[in-house]
Amino acid sequence: MQSFNHESHGGRVVFGNGSLETLPEILDSLGIARALLITTPEQAELGHRIDRVLGKRSAGVLAKAVMHVPVEVAREAVRAMRESGADACIAAGGGSTIGLAKAIALEADLPIVALPTTYAGSEMTPLYGLTEAGVKKTGKDWGVLPRCVVYDPQLTLTLPVKLSVTSGINAIAHAVEGLYAHDGSPVYSLMAEEGIRALASALPRLYASPSDVEARGDALYGAWLCGTVLGNVQMGVHHKICHTLGGTFNLPHAEVHTVVLPYALGYNAAHAAYALERTERAIGATDAIAGLRGLIDSLDAPRSLREIGMPRDGIDRAADLIVEKAYPNPRPIERHAIRALLERAYEGADPL
Ligand code: NAD
Repeated sequence: MQSFNHESHGGRVVFGNGSLETLPEILDSLGIARALLITTPEQAELGHRIDRVLGKRSAGVLAKAVMHVPVEVAREAVRAMRESGADACIAAGGGSTIGLAKAIALEADLPIVALPTTYAGSEMTPLYGLTEAGVKKTGKDWGVLPRCVVYDPQLTLTLPVKLSVTSGINAIAHAVEGLYAHDGSPVYSLMAEEGIRALASALPRLYASPSDVEARGDALYGAWLCGTVLGNVQMGVHHKICHTLGGTFNLPHAEVHTVVLPYALGYNAAHAAYALERTERAIGATDAIAGLRGLIDSLDAPRSLREIGMPRDGIDRAADLIVEKAYPNPRPIERHAIRALLERAYEGADPL
């Protein structure tokens, strides 16, 4: 057994179909009097549904969340929060919505209750991002970790299949990187393996039948585990590549993760035997990289950076940015190898 240092931070997690209806008791248990409800414009109706569940304890719906948390939107939300007199915010949505709630929590020092409706995992992390003048800055503050996360699989039934699939692979990527993280622990490895297993089993079922609530529940359970791993151990080259490509070329978050995952694992393969073995066991394959690629293909998900809008002449700039600063990764970060990885991922070629 290797030495390890395990640390856990966590709020309460309530999981189950219909758990949205228990929000009033959850607010009671947290000592919250009134909450401002945050959604995207597309999910405003969900905000109004929560507003009806909370009655007088709702301070209204702010349906203003957008991708990457522009600083102007965050300032407006903080203002709305102060004017409403609410003592908490409820974020119902994916990473963009929870990201806006984190920006409010950071500024106004108020608790968040999150109802995740994708598999991205932001609800389980202390990581936040804010975009100013086109540049996204990220930070870490345990104060923005939601005090309670309510996972209601019913709320994911409306998530379009295409986004369900890529969001699920996004979650698997957190767990795969968690398996080779330098600061991992046996507990996070258990969570990672179980999270990958749950998602690899659920995604083909929900792809075949998007209204399969059992499959939706299994996927959300996997997302919780993978998000917990993301929030507690340091990510490596996969997340660095995705963050760089997403930010520089404005590529869709979950799709970038889906395309890059087999290539990033291929990059680290000779240095991550344990992660490969655990991933193989979780997905029931004899080869982790081919197995993940097969899963992605079977779900009709994108397999090349070209098809999701990356410009070919951006490869060199991306390689420069990815190697610019040091970060932990099992294999040293070498520019020529990163460039070759990007070239193969651009074409959708063999990950190795
Ligand atoms: P998203 O939150 O941007 O949602 C994408 C779209 O899907 C939105 O229009 C949203 O309203 C809609 N949607 C979400 N759930 C739905 C549902 N159940 N039914 C119908 N429509 C639904 O997508 P995402 O992938 O969850 O989040 C991506 C963002 O989150 C990125 O900016 C990423 O950087 C950030 N993120 C942050 C962390 C973190 O730890 N801070 C973790 C993961 C992602």
